[in-house]
Amino acid sequence: MSVNNVGAKGLSDCPRCGSEIDLSPENIAAMVAEIPISPSLAAEESLYKKRLSACAECEALRESVLCAYCGCFILFRARPKKSYCPHPKGNLWENADT
Ligand code: SF4
Repeated sequence: MSVNNVGAKGLSDCPRCGSEIDLSPENIAAMVAEIPISPSLAAEESLYKKRLSACAECEALRESVLCAYCGCFILFRARPKKSYCPHPKGNLWENADT
């Protein structure tokens, strides 16, 4: 998936399957909250928020929810402790993760 292929269409439909679903940041956050994750595997809340702040400043963020480089919803991608930022110029979460 290239940067240019994501976001041009917008996110009124799922970019993968075309289903009409609510992909607002609020709805995605509600989905994230419903999926359990072991505390030992999850990023601490402060780290999670720092990662999301880095994403908010990134040129690869699409429609406030999607990373153009990996195709992930950032609210899911940033959640596991061992996750990483896939930016080709390097990990933009580096400052958050140290
Ligand atoms: S490249 Fe990294 S910082 Fe940018 S949106 Fe994707 S995960 Fe976030």
